[in-house]
Amino acid sequence: MTDSVAQIKERLNIEDVIAPYVKLTRAGKSLRGLCPFHKEKTPSFHVSPERGSWHCFGCGLGGDGFSFIEKIEGVDFKGALQILAEKAGVVIEYSGKGNREDTTKKERLLALMARASEWYAGKLLGSLAQIYAHDRGLNGGTIAAWRLGYAPEEWRALLEALTAEGFTIPELLSAGLIKEADGKPGTYYDRFRNRLLFPIRDAAGRVVAFTGRALAPDDLAKYLNSPETELYHKSEILFGMDRAKDAIRTRKFTMLVEGQIDVLLAHQAGFENAVALSGTALSSRHLNLMKRYSENLMLVLDADAAGLTATARSAELALREGLRVKAARLPSGKDPAELIEEDVQEFTKRIKEAKPIVDFFLTELAEKERDPHRLVRAAEQIVLPLINAIPSPMEREHFMQSAARTLGLSSETIRESLRRLPKLQETPGSSSVERTAAVPARDTRSQVILAVLHAYPDTPLANRVKTEYLRITEAPELPSETLPESALFSAEQMFGESPSEDAADELLRAFEEAVIREAYQEAVNNLRRAEAAGEAGSVERAQAACTKLSARLAAFGR
Ligand SMILES: [Zn+2]
Repeated sequence: MTDSVAQIKERLNIEDVIAPYVKLTRAGKSLRGLCPFHKEKTPSFHVSPERGSWHCFGCGLGGDGFSFIEKIEGVDFKGALQILAEKAGVVIEYSGKGNREDTTKKERLLALMARASEWYAGKLLGSLAQIYAHDRGLNGGTIAAWRLGYAPEEWRALLEALTAEGFTIPELLSAGLIKEADGKPGTYYDRFRNRLLFPIRDAAGRVVAFTGRALAPDDLAKYLNSPETELYHKSEILFGMDRAKDAIRTRKFTMLVEGQIDVLLAHQAGFENAVALSGTALSSRHLNLMKRYSENLMLVLDADAAGLTATARSAELALREGLRVKAARLPSGKDPAELIEEDVQEFTKRIKEAKPIVDFFLTELAEKERDPHRLVRAAEQIVLPLINAIPSPMEREHFMQSAARTLGLSSETIRESLRRLPKLQETPGSSSVERTAAVPARDTRSQVILAVLHAYPDTPLANRVKTEYLRITEAPELPSETLPESALFSAEQMFGESPSEDAADELLRAFEEAVIREAYQEAVNNLRRAEAAGEAGSVERAQAACTKLSARLAAFGR
């Protein structure tokens, strides 16, 4: 594996890795752009092709190409490795079966899931599952691309096949592929039987779980999901994201649909930005995963009332997380899968007519509630919390006015009702960004100081400069982890290809100023102490020192 890492680093430069995600422009030796990990208007995200590293002065994050992919794709190191290996055309050399102690448990589980997926896919041809998939409108290309499979109507088919290949019972259990029989310890059977199987993949495209659609009409559980495992955390996985992320970036929105078949049919019809949850409510983690690719979310809904309340809750969460949310309404009683299969043009039309979520609910409610008083009550309960969740004051104002128009109220009344709602609480996600964003400073002087720290480490001068840095940034301490990298970038930024005399002058000036300022402060403190003690001689000396230092400080003209 270390060979693969080296090979990838050799073939891919950092620019190739980052450019698909961040628009980079050249700035001296490095490249810079808007940071994809925090909101900003001026670029503080720097990339050094020479060192193969990146660093953001805004939020303090940094690292190499692998760590960039880990963060932006929401995957671990192995996931990043897989993505970059594909990009670089490098085949990853995993240690094989004979070398089990080298492979971690997680790798084994991933290998097991990949193998199970292939095994199920191999059973599909001519099965009931294949007929069912065709009946639902999935074509051969889609079935093959998503590697749909069939779990045969047998108790131990998968178990026997995979244990024969060297996987163990405990491994099959921890992957959620088999179950222990109730009241019969030591007896195991396949979890999925007589079902059409949809592999659930993480954002890097690795199979982590399955959803099984029942094929027998009398099966009580229509859909059966893998349990939560070491690989599968349903609140972190969006079904289809591995195949949807490019389209989400280019179309600039994520389309969230109800189920797996909806996702497959949407992709088949050209809406390759569709994803779905798998058997869980929308979570902040899902939203953060979406935000990596686009800040716009479209909810595609069928029109039943139960769905609408759940939609309002999801939308509120998404707005709080800073996404822009729209909703498209499908004709009564139709889910996306049905509509796409029956009338793709109508589906496209509905998507085009999607409305911002506040307007969507205002229209919905106005259509349902003929009684004006009840309409106002319903809007107060559903629409106001949505408006309240919008972080941008301008957008909030805009939607307050649309609510006022629809409800026939003054926007002052809406504003007043909003004030009565509980205050918007900061989401954990955004506050952690705030925390990291507070430490570094973007102004030139603190960057000079960081550069000095890098260029002259562990000198008395550097120590004084450190003090100055902390004073300027009001940080409790130096960001030791990010310091070396950020200092390198500062130095590069300042000195560019060839360190100019001007830049060196500026550096020394900043140095000197920091030193003098510190001495001046010290002199002022001495003066106060001397005055308090009433020693005439010391007061005089301290005054002289202050005058001298303040004159030198004034010469800097800052
Ligand atoms: Zn940043």
